[in-house]
Amino acid sequence: MQQHEQAEDFLEDFATMSGFGATPGGGVERQAGSAADHETRAWFAGWLERAGFEVRHDAVSNQFGLLELVPGAPYVLVGSHLDSQPLAGRFDGAYGVLAAAHAAREVARRVREGSLQPACNLAVVNWFNEEGSRFTPSMMGSSVLTGKLPLETALAATDRAGVTVAQAIAEPGDALDLTPPPVAAYAEIHIEQGRGLEESGTTIGLVDRTWAASKYRIVVHGEQSHTGSTVMADRRDALYGAALVIVAARELTDELPEGMLHSSVSELELAPNSPVTVARLVEINLDLRSPDEAVLERANALLEERLAAIEERARVTIERRLTHQWGLLAYQPEGVELARSAAAALGLTHAPTMTVAGHDSTNMKDVAPTVMLFVPSIEGISHNEGERTSDEDSVAGVALLTEVTARLVAGELGSAAAFTPGG
Ligand SMILES: [Zn+2]
Repeated sequence: MQQHEQAEDFLEDFATMSGFGATPGGGVERQAGSAADHETRAWFAGWLERAGFEVRHDAVSNQFGLLELVPGAPYVLVGSHLDSQPLAGRFDGAYGVLAAAHAAREVARRVREGSLQPACNLAVVNWFNEEGSRFTPSMMGSSVLTGKLPLETALAATDRAGVTVAQAIAEPGDALDLTPPPVAAYAEIHIEQGRGLEESGTTIGLVDRTWAASKYRIVVHGEQSHTGSTVMADRRDALYGAALVIVAARELTDELPEGMLHSSVSELELAPNSPVTVARLVEINLDLRSPDEAVLERANALLEERLAAIEERARVTIERRLTHQWGLLAYQPEGVELARSAAAALGLTHAPTMTVAGHDSTNMKDVAPTVMLFVPSIEGISHNEGERTSDEDSVAGVALLTEVTARLVAGELGSAAAFTPGG
């Protein structure tokens, strides 16, 4: 297929795919295991089958399109995630899955016509529940495959209505039908979800590191009382304490060099959540991220001071539990170099980039050589129906992922030390 045909075909498929779970504002809502997620997966399975892939899924509902090119060899995996946040954009994850499918189909064609000598097999992957909006934790499918999260824990996770992952993924005849194959290498393309590439006029981000992050579950303990009759001096209002924590998290960013700390509180649960009762308990998440480990350390120290002051001011006690923590984690330099060389060969502007968000590739890079690519997000908008990437950048990304996948299938990153899931 000529390159412009591949481009047109991709854009047409992307428009079709964006119809599943479409929202009135031009986005999609396809939370993991929802009807819209199932519909998108079914459409995608059909696409893969028509393109000659064997469609299977593993016990945590990661969906694979397998293509055997070299019997017995490990697989190059290429993919991302089809699930979305509530009221989300069309591109986050879904762009990368469809780009992977188009790249893999083109690589298979090159192998068939004899212009590419394969050293590995090839699989497209749609990771289950990357977003973690309905079921925590996020990056669930890749965490199970890489052995970081027990399968039983993942399957037992519940949404707010008490539905388990096991129930949400269960469809008639939908039992485990694949033990994932050994992985030689992994590649993923994703939208940047920031402004860096757009502002520097760069088409491709070569992801070489992640931002450092500390994520907390914070529980504010107060005492339940009457909202009217309890005198102010007697109150131990957990919601008031939590409000002070939320403000403190935001204001930490003003105390550190501009742009060096991102902080948020984006989820809150309170008890008893009643109009005439002062809250006895509030649970929130608190997320701190920085491209500089020293800044993050300073932010953590400042947070501890603020929480101690808030305990006194609001007469509450605050429990702080670190749920996730990582430093500036590097992607393999060989993978970054392979991607750089492929981008240069296609004449695409490119620059090293850090990722602020976590991705399935963040898990995969710990077990296999991994290439992570970004394309620009218009105005950096993400987790929003207004999320956009231009057609030109979208198809440039597909062309690059095709080139990268071809090089990986040819064994350029080596296939000797394959990672065996569950092994
Ligand atoms: Zn994503």
